[in-house]
Amino acid sequence: MEKESIKNINRKNQNKKKRAAEDHAEETDFLKCPVYRKCGGCEFRNVTYQEQLEIKESRVRRELEGLARTEKIAGMSYPYFYRNKVNAAFQRRRDGSIVSGVYEAGTHRVVPVGRCLIEDQRADRIIGTIRRLVPSFRISIYNEDSGYGLLRHVMIRVGHKTGQILAVLVVTSPVFPSKNNFVKALRREHPEITSIVLNVNDRNTSMVLGDRNIVLYGKGYIEDILCGKKFRISPSSFYQINSVQTEVLYRKAISLAALTGKEKVLDAYSGIGTIGIAASDSAGEVTCVELNADAVRDARYNARINGVRNIRFCQDDAGRFLERMAAEGEKADVLFMDPPRSGSTEAFINAASSMKPDRIVYISCNPETLARDLRYFRKRGYRAEKAYPVDMFAWSGSIETVVALHRESLSLP
Ligand code: SAH
Repeated sequence: MEKESIKNINRKNQNKKKRAAEDHAEETDFLKCPVYRKCGGCEFRNVTYQEQLEIKESRVRRELEGLARTEKIAGMSYPYFYRNKVNAAFQRRRDGSIVSGVYEAGTHRVVPVGRCLIEDQRADRIIGTIRRLVPSFRISIYNEDSGYGLLRHVMIRVGHKTGQILAVLVVTSPVFPSKNNFVKALRREHPEITSIVLNVNDRNTSMVLGDRNIVLYGKGYIEDILCGKKFRISPSSFYQINSVQTEVLYRKAISLAALTGKEKVLDAYSGIGTIGIAASDSAGEVTCVELNADAVRDARYNARINGVRNIRFCQDDAGRFLERMAAEGEKADVLFMDPPRSGSTEAFINAASSMKPDRIVYISCNPETLARDLRYFRKRGYRAEKAYPVDMFAWSGSIETVVALHRESLSLP
């Protein structure tokens, strides 16, 4: 009897797995991805999406043990083709053929990527067309060793809600042969492209984009809609790469801030102002700080087009800026912080805690630096309760987590 029920359970589990696999036929395609090993972009291949979510959740739980209680991870209902930004490096092989894709880890060899299961399909198709057009327009491909050649990378950005598409051609020189005809040919095949930009990067660097943008067609940026607000995104501004899950993440972050409409809010590492602008309706006033000047320019414009008046933007290092605010005796009620993978700094955390916000909402894309920073926050009197992982990077190993910290009430003597 007991044996039979175990058998039943096993069968049920197997059926469940089978159904899940049928639901996501693409899942099995991962097994067939021809560049899986060399590309290195996806960590998970031989597990189902469900299993992957469980692994990610337990990684966060392990990392944050003793610091915060990890809740269930928020997964995607369709975890494919979600990347709204696609970068492709271009390279000319010895036999003269042109390939585009990603660098093989630790090498300067480009692994050709045609159709990728996590990248926006429109972006991949446009990159394929550019690869095909390049020889007929006699556009030379940059060679890292000799330093000669024109085209280095192509970056495509897609507005998830608006459908706007920006193609950025990263080149070593602003002199691009038969520019107008190239733009015409590309637009003929892809009328969905709304803007084309030449980005000039003539330095010998691993950074994809250079500083100079020349608009060849359209506005030079895309717009997208997140949490009901419109955002302009310039080529070099940071924008979350998974738009569906970004809304899940921001809604969670804003609800954890428990805003009532009166609060003085700080949004640090604010990018193009997405979190600050999304939270502005339920805040008294918002101050954003961000290092990248282009992103700050986008953020100011974004506040204007959304009619947001209770917000200001400062271009500065977040740590330095908060230190200055703290030194001037300024206070904040709520702090949002969303630092890069390397996490925040002790200078930032010291200054943040001396401004005594009641709540800090920490958004992190790296559980290790999150754990380190939460430990430091604890020394400064801030405790986290719950951590909410959100799966922003399906199939890859990265994990996004949002955590709310509260100021511990000082025990009276
Ligand atoms: N909150 C934004 C951006 C998060 S990404 C969003 O959700 O879209 C992290 C941002 O931190 C990037 O825009 C990056 O330019 C910025 N940044 C990196 N180092 C910084 C620093 N020292 N001070 C301020 N901003 C910084």
